[in-house]
Amino acid sequence: MTFDTPITIALSKGRIFKQTLPLLAHAGIEPLDDPETSRKLILDTNHPQVKLVIIRASDVPTYVQWGAADIGVAGKDVLLEHGGDGLYEPLDLKIACCALWVAGQPGADLKRRRLRIATKYVRSAQQHFAAKGQQVEIIKLYGSMELAPIVGLSDLIVDLVESGNTLKANGLVKLEHICDISSRLVVNKASWKMKHGTVIQVLEALREAVEN
Ligand code: ATP
Ligand code: MG
Repeated sequence: MTFDTPITIALSKGRIFKQTLPLLAHAGIEPLDDPETSRKLILDTNHPQVKLVIIRASDVPTYVQWGAADIGVAGKDVLLEHGGDGLYEPLDLKIACCALWVAGQPGADLKRRRLRIATKYVRSAQQHFAAKGQQVEIIKLYGSMELAPIVGLSDLIVDLVESGNTLKANGLVKLEHICDISSRLVVNKASWKMKHGTVIQVLEALREAVEN
């Protein structure tokens, strides 16, 4: 496959990179370096026209929104927090699947007034409890949410759950399902117009890879 315009794709290290690789390979795009071992933040690919930028998962929508990358792969959790300004979200890549849950200690009182919720997902947590007409206090954390109810920082947490092993290891249980999460292809709105041919080529190749 050849592309008529240069494009930059934003990815994060770890599970998103690993699970996006086979999809990109289907579009004929192969990075020349492995971000897990290389310190490079910009990776060349076998295509002179295609570059990858390797950034924090939660920064992907920002890079794409501002056009620093034309395309990106981001978890729906991250997109819900970002809000999606300046982005199109044309494809569910069905990778890095998990779900957003309210969790806590078994028997936690979900009806209590002014529940304290510790989470990295402030916006999703706020929306979930507001939709139930419940007043809560949100405590923003950046990780290790499971600790919060154990040490009395919060009554509950809102976090991503895949196997449930981390919750279990910390004596917590799933209480309320908020939404299913998977990674999405996002496209800068200006790139969608200005680089339409190339964006569509990549999009359709990825769509085919997801469906097969
Ligand atoms: P950082 O590690 O830089 O703080 P992060 O924890 O959000 O960022 P990852 O752990 O690589 O980065 O997660 C990237 C994305 O993968 C998340 O935004 C989410 O969509 C998805 N994800 C996170 N945890 C899981 C999980 N346990 N199972 C499946 N997918 C997950
Ligand atoms: Mg992580």
